Amino acid sequence: MPLSPYLKIFPESEHPDFALVYSTKKGSLVRIPQKLLDCAQNDILGDANRETLQRLQIWVDDPIVERKTMTTLVERTNRFSKTFTATVVLTLDCNLACPYCFEDHFRGNFSMNEETTQLLTAHIKREHIDDGRDVELRFYGGEPLMAIPLLKRIAGFLIEAATAAGTKFSCSLTTNATLLTRTAVEELLPFGLKSAQITLDGPKRIHNRQRPFVSGHGSFTTIVDNIRSVYELITIKPGGNFTRGNYRKFPEMLDALLMAGIDPKKIGPIQFAPIHPKSGGHAPHSSSCAIGNEPWLIEANLFLREETLRRGFAVDKPHMGVCMIELTNNIVVNYDGSLYKCPALMGWPEFAVGTLVDGIIDYRESHKLDIWKNDECLECAYLPLCFGGCRFFRKLETGAIDGVDCRRAMLDASLETIVRQNLDQ
Ligand code: SF4
Ligand code: SF4
Repeated sequence: MPLSPYLKIFPESEHPDFALVYSTKKGSLVRIPQKLLDCAQNDILGDANRETLQRLQIWVDDPIVERKTMTTLVERTNRFSKTFTATVVLTLDCNLACPYCFEDHFRGNFSMNEETTQLLTAHIKREHIDDGRDVELRFYGGEPLMAIPLLKRIAGFLIEAATAAGTKFSCSLTTNATLLTRTAVEELLPFGLKSAQITLDGPKRIHNRQRPFVSGHGSFTTIVDNIRSVYELITIKPGGNFTRGNYRKFPEMLDALLMAGIDPKKIGPIQFAPIHPKSGGHAPHSSSCAIGNEPWLIEANLFLREETLRRGFAVDKPHMGVCMIELTNNIVVNYDGSLYKCPALMGWPEFAVGTLVDGIIDYRESHKLDIWKNDECLECAYLPLCFGGCRFFRKLETGAIDGVDCRRAMLDASLETIVRQNLDQ
């Protein structure tokens, strides 16, 4: 059968003579006459149709070659990547006291010291800028805006080094947004600040309970005021952490943004994620890593997506996504100079992959690189969206990274709806 293995075919209920064909590899969606699809499946296409379907990566010369190409995709990405990306923990200090905070047991007044800062900037210059790569840093905490002078020292050095080498430097923040004032953003724009991922946990009454200042006062109004004053200067990517009991109230938070006069078209994609039960100091890298197979979570994800789109805000589309652990030019640097492959693994010292002083060790076995290179995954239509799921969730589930974290049930239950939601947009 010459169809790509990485397709999902959905019926077109309003036009039964057509089918929707979604390529998980290309992220494309086409409506195709059922007859043409049958011809493709039986390998009796005319040249013109074959050429068109080939261009859309629906028809492939040889599905076995297609699978083989997938096995080398990560190596090729790593070899040819022209961008180095790092998540940098500037400080563990924070001005909020969220009861669910995954860092609460090691939060405190610990910040990157001068020696580690110099090791970090020298490492990035030597290993990446001098090798011709662009650099994208994501400043992380604690609350990174409690360490603005440190952020400016790192970004200032790297901008100069990148400019001298003819490469580019940019940075983003993962911030609670209470200190994301217009003054702070204007101060950081010359240091390459492009975007901020911020958190609003639902409407005011829920958010203020889940994300109070250390003083106990709510932070909702401060954050909405800050978003309104900076969202036309940098891309704001709002996120929110929901529970099974409160996710249905979260659209009220979107209504509050609209009421504040914020134009949804000028806001980055909204990403909601579940609060994970406290898990020994760990949290998923991003919301797309966090949606697992539990039925209520699938329902919550689809509900929030629908409500977000309905209000004119953007959401992330499914896209080819490999766990950052597999990407060579992507690292997490803790405030003390220890190195990890995902922020969720910080706090499990056995998952450190080295230090800025000693360099990076071989982590292929400890992090089970290539865990998805097995027959079941290579034949799975979801492989380009999943690549074996999340190492962190597998560790939470079984106590070890000893297999894939299969997302098939979640994708079976939600991908068609997601594709149709996107189509309606
Ligand atoms: S281990 Fe990979 S998939 Fe899981 S949270 Fe980290 S980056 Fe995301
Ligand atoms: S882990 Fe499951 S969903 Fe993911 S590629 Fe493998 S079989 Fe498919």
